Amino acid sequence: MRESQLMSTAGPVYMDYNATAPLRPEAAEAMMVALNQPANPSSVHQFGRAARALLETARKTIADSLNVQPSALTFTSGGTESNNMVLAGFRTVLASSVEHEAVLAACPDAHLINVDENGVVSLRHLEFLLSSFSDQDKAGILVSVMAANNETGVIQPIDDIGILCRQHKVAFHTDMVQAFGKLEITPEDNLIDYLTVSGHKIGAPAGIGAVWCRAGRPLNSLLAGGGQEQGRRSGTENLSGICGFAAAAQVAQPSTFEHMRSWRDEAEQMITLHCPKIQIIGATASRLVNTSCLFLPGLAAQTAIMALDLAGFAVSSGSACSSGKVTSSHVLAAMGRGDAAGQVIRISGGWRTTRQDFYGLAQAVIDLYKRKAN
Ligand code: PLP
Repeated sequence: MRESQLMSTAGPVYMDYNATAPLRPEAAEAMMVALNQPANPSSVHQFGRAARALLETARKTIADSLNVQPSALTFTSGGTESNNMVLAGFRTVLASSVEHEAVLAACPDAHLINVDENGVVSLRHLEFLLSSFSDQDKAGILVSVMAANNETGVIQPIDDIGILCRQHKVAFHTDMVQAFGKLEITPEDNLIDYLTVSGHKIGAPAGIGAVWCRAGRPLNSLLAGGGQEQGRRSGTENLSGICGFAAAAQVAQPSTFEHMRSWRDEAEQMITLHCPKIQIIGATASRLVNTSCLFLPGLAAQTAIMALDLAGFAVSSGSACSSGKVTSSHVLAAMGRGDAAGQVIRISGGWRTTRQDFYGLAQAVIDLYKRKAN
C-alpha cells in the first residue's frame, strides 16, 4: 500500500477513532515484512527463528510502551478476549457500571460500582462494597475499572483504586483499551495487577491485543491447543498483527496527542457558544484529549450522525451496537443522564486528525443543530 493512499485527507473526515483508528503507515510497513515470509514462530528452521525474533522484538516494544516486563505480556485477539481472560480467573468481580460490554457481558453477576454524574467511580462505594466481604472471600475478588471510558473519554482515578485494592488485598484489573497511547500508566506505580490493550484503537489492525499480568497472579487460558504464549494463549501467533501493533505502539505516545486538547476544547467552546443548549458530557472531569461527547437536546443521535455523514464528518453515538443501531447507553444511565439517551454523539480524533477537522466539525454541528433541533 502506498503512503499517499493512507495519508489522503481528501473526502470525508473520520472522527470516530474510539471505534477504530485508521491503520498507521508504520504499522502497514511492519506488517508487510511479516506477511512476506512464512511466519510460524514455533518452527525450528531458520524461517521460524526469524519469525520468533520479530515476535519477541515486537513484544519488547509493546512492553516498553506499557512500562512492563516483556515476559509478562501475552498476545490475544484484542481487548474483548484480553478482558474475558482476566475475568475468567475470578469468583467475584466488582466492576464499574460504565465498563465496556467486554467486561460487563463477560461477568453478568458482577457487583456494580456506582459512578458520579461525570461517570467517575465512587471510591466510597467501592470501599463500601469491599468492606462487605470477609478476608477469606477477598482472595477470589477482582476489581475491574477501565482507565478511560470509550463513550465519554472520562478518566478514572486509577491511582486511588489501586491503593484501595491493595489495602483490601484484592486484585485490580484496568481495561486500558482507550487510554493506551494517550495516558501514561505504569502498572507498578499504579498498583495494577492486570492490564488489557487492543491494537486497532492506536492504528494497528483489528484482531490483535494483549494482556499483562503481574507475576504470581493467575491468568486462565481460554483456548485449549498448542500451548503458545507460555501456555497462556494457544493458537499460532498473529505475527503480522503483532508487528503492526508494535510499530503503532512505538509512535502512539501520549505526548503526540497533547496538542489535541486545545483543538477539542476550542471546538466545544464554539459549539456551546453558538448553541447554548448543547451540553458536553463529563465536561468537568478529566477526559482523554481526543474525545468529546455531546448531548444535543431535541435532536435524535441517529439523525445527527446521518446528517453529519452527509456533511462529510464520520462520528458516532458512543452507544452504537455491533449492528450500528443507536442503543440506549448504559454509561449515560449509570451517570444519571437518562435524559440524554438517544441524543448523544461522540466525536473522537486521532493520529490523522487536524485542527481544521475539529473546526469544520464544530461548524457542521452548529449548522445542523440550528436547522434541526426542536
Ligand atoms: N474495552 C474498551 C474500553 C473498548 O472501547 C473496546 C472496543 O471498543 C473493547 C474493550 C474491545 O476491544 P476489541 O474491539 O479489541 O475487542
